[in-house]
Formats: sequence, C-alpha cells, structure tokens
Amino acid sequence: MDTGGNSLPSGPDGVKRKVSYFYDPEVGNYYYGQGHPMKPHRIRMTHALLAHYGLLQHMQVLKPVPARDRDLCRFHADDYVSFLRGITPEMQQDQLRQLKRFNVGEDCPVFDGLYSFCQTYAGGSVGGAVKLNHGLCDIAINWAGGLHHAKKSEASGFCYVNDIVLAILELLKVHERVLYVDIDIHHGDGVEEAFYTTERVMTVSFHKFGDYFPGTETFVYIGYGKGKYYSLNVPLDDGIDDESYQSLFKPIMGKVMEIFKPGAVVLQCGADSLSGDRLGCFNLSIKGHAECVKYMISFNVPLLLVGGGGYTIRYVARCWCYETGVALGFELDDKIPQHEYYEYFGPDYTLHVAPSNMENKNSRPMLDDIRGKLLEYLSSLQHAPSVQFQERPPEAEIPEEDEDQHDPEGRWDPDSDMEVDDRSISIRSRVKREIMEPDLKDRDDVKDAVDHPRDMDVSYGAGNTSVKAPTTSSDQPEGCVEMEQDNSNRPPDQGPNMNS
Ligand SMILES: [Zn+2]
Repeated sequence: MDTGGNSLPSGPDGVKRKVSYFYDPEVGNYYYGQGHPMKPHRIRMTHALLAHYGLLQHMQVLKPVPARDRDLCRFHADDYVSFLRGITPEMQQDQLRQLKRFNVGEDCPVFDGLYSFCQTYAGGSVGGAVKLNHGLCDIAINWAGGLHHAKKSEASGFCYVNDIVLAILELLKVHERVLYVDIDIHHGDGVEEAFYTTERVMTVSFHKFGDYFPGTETFVYIGYGKGKYYSLNVPLDDGIDDESYQSLFKPIMGKVMEIFKPGAVVLQCGADSLSGDRLGCFNLSIKGHAECVKYMISFNVPLLLVGGGGYTIRYVARCWCYETGVALGFELDDKIPQHEYYEYFGPDYTLHVAPSNMENKNSRPMLDDIRGKLLEYLSSLQHAPSVQFQERPPEAEIPEEDEDQHDPEGRWDPDSDMEVDDRSISIRSRVKREIMEPDLKDRDDVKDAVDHPRDMDVSYGAGNTSVKAPTTSSDQPEGCVEMEQDNSNRPPDQGPNMNS
C-alpha cells in the first residue's frame, strides 16, 4: 500500500532506518495468573518470530536496563512505587486496604516478579527514548511496553507503571514537542491524563467509544488550559475495517504532523484493535494495522514503537513481527518459518489472516463527521495567535564515541532535574467496565498453561466495575505533569523543569 505520507527524498522506503529493539529474555516468564487475558508470553512469541524471519541481525538488539525506583518516580507517586516494589502474592491478605487504594488485585493482579516486570518494560521504553535522543537510531522498538492505562498512583487495565509517560518525559529533554499516537482499541487515558495541560505533548487516541473500558467520554476531553486541543480523541464503533480506519488515520495524522511538527513520535501499537482479538471488536487486518506504522515512519521523525493490548496472542505475535519488518523496510514472506511456537499458528501457518465479515458499524457520514471535527480542532490550533511552532531545537551534544562507552548501562540521565508535579488537583470521573471472561477453551490459554505449569492461585475477578467520583471542581485531572511555561532557552539536555 502507498503510504501517501511525507516520503523521504529517496522515496518511501528508499532509506533504511536504523532500528534499536529492546527485549528481555525473561519477559515471557511473567504470568498474570490463570485465565488472565494479558500474557507476557506473547512478547517471547514475537521475538521468536523475529529471530526465525532473520530480522534480529538487521537491528541493534538490546536488553533493557531495569528502571529504578527513582526513574519510575519521575511520574509515579513514591508510595505507589514502594507498594509495587514490596507487594507479593503471599502478603496480599494483609494489604487489602493498600490493594484497594492502588487498584491492584483484580484486573491488575499481584503476581510473582511483578515489580521486576514493571522495571523491565519501563526500562525498554525509556531506553528507547534515550537512544532516540542521542541520535543512535531512527526507530526504537519495545513490544513489552505500551501500558497506557497506568496512572500516577494507580494501576489500571492490566497496566501498573506507565512506561509511555516515562519515555515521553525522557524525549522532552531533547525535543520541544512530542507526539503520542495510540491505535490500541482502548482509550490511551493514562498518557492523555499525564499531559492534559501541556502544549508540549499532543496525544491522539483512536479507540472504541461507549460502554467499553476505560469508559472515558472522550468527546468531552480535548485538553485543558495551555493543553487545550492538544488531547485529541477519535471515537470509533465496532467492526471498523482497514479502509474506514485509514480514512480517518491518514488525514488526521497528516494534519497533526503538519501543524504540531513534533520532534519525536511515540506510537502505541496495541494489537487488540485487530480482527479476532479476544477482548476487542474491531476488524483490522495486520496490514491495515501496520499501515499506521508505515504512515508514521514516512514522516522521518524519531519514532518509538511500543506494544500495548492484544489478547489473541497468535495474532499479536504476527502483528508485531510484521510491524518490525515494516520498521526495517522488509516485506516478510507470508509463510511462517518453523520454530518453537509454530503450533500456535495453525491451521494456515501464515503471517496474514483474513479479517472477518462482521458488520462495520461506522457509517460513512459518521466517519466524515469525526474527521471534520478533528480537523476543525486542528485548524483552531493553527490559527491561535499564542501558538508558535518553531523548528526543532538543536539536539543535545552527542559524544563522538560509542554511546555504550559513554553510558555503559545504556541508562538515561540519572541526575535529571525532572520531577513531576506532586499537587493532585482533581480527578475526572472514570467508569471502568471491562469484562474479562476467562475462557479456558481458548487455544492460547491451553498453550499458555502448558508453558506455565506453575499456575498460581491468584484471586482473579471475572469482571470489575468501579466508579470514581470527581473530588473537586477543577477540570484539571489528577496526575497531570506540569510543565514550566517557557522551555525554549533551556539547554536541551536538561529537560523541562517540573515544578515540585
Ligand atoms: Zn487495549
């Protein structure tokens, strides 16, 4: 498919991108518990496909340096991080109040190694941002990341720490503006909330609206104060297909790139928007999903790709493998190579799977209306007299020597002056309605149980509905990162000053 984007001078795929790929061989061993739809094993399956398609030798493969407490505390509250570090399945019974306070226990269960899992997936995303900041790659990939629902002091929707917010904070050290794009079927609420009041981060989330997790009434949320019109939401209905999706994605993202001119882009590639997802209800093919990746790559701006949702794991692995190929500029053979997880991909053993014949509830007039509204928001930004979009500020000085020498652990600047605003101002009403039905007949579950014989007896809710009431009258959400007003004269390697 033609991307139709801002092609490089030598053509859409005329220049091979330098890709850094973050993977920890341990990540597939973390286990949310029997019947839980979130399976880190899918990351290991993706990696095995990459290895057998011969893609690993075309990119820099890096094991993430685990994020430390202080790194996580750049966004998350100290007491929440301490809780995550300390909690174990055995001590849950004595910590019921804390579990409730931090929303841990049902959708977000306590499991063995929970904290090191968080450190690993956050370390990959922040490590990717560091590589991009130093100009050491064009595209960084962390399929274990993308956990977009996590809040400052609260787990949500299978997410504990928000690696995306942490990575964006890292990118903001070098880039005046960072764009976040989210193609998971669920609203990227945690990231939106964190940057709700700043014009330095634009968030754009394409998602299923209505009675669906996390239940945000996204039409209403467009950003606040200086951040007004910098939070964009594209509400979609069941059964959306490739053509309908791209009829919104390309015009909207094309306009966003033209007007916002980000210095870096983070694309959350949640695969639960694929046809046939266990929790999803969209009808995208892998090629349709990957078209978003291809389009964002075509703008030739430093790009961080992260994972996210995706609950039919044989589709998730196919999708993220194909999208890694897209990042590298390879079109992969449809025939899946023989490997240790080959049996998952039967009966066809092909990379691409036909979408279903489900009804597309997104009518043409509805799509036209949404596109019109979003383009209108973007034009009002374009014509706002206070907004001055300059070109990117100069990059941080990069040492001549290999970055690994300079920064042996590949760790980001540990002495950053970045801190996150600690003043909780208010909270939006959020309705959470995600039904998770443990379906033991699901083939992924059966295989998963085989791969994880040590099933733990973790109490696991078959559904979870909770409503949080607003606590104050302010429109500003809790957990917002507050930026200093003018960062234009700040040395780029120091990052914005966060009021504390
Ligand atoms: Zn999702």
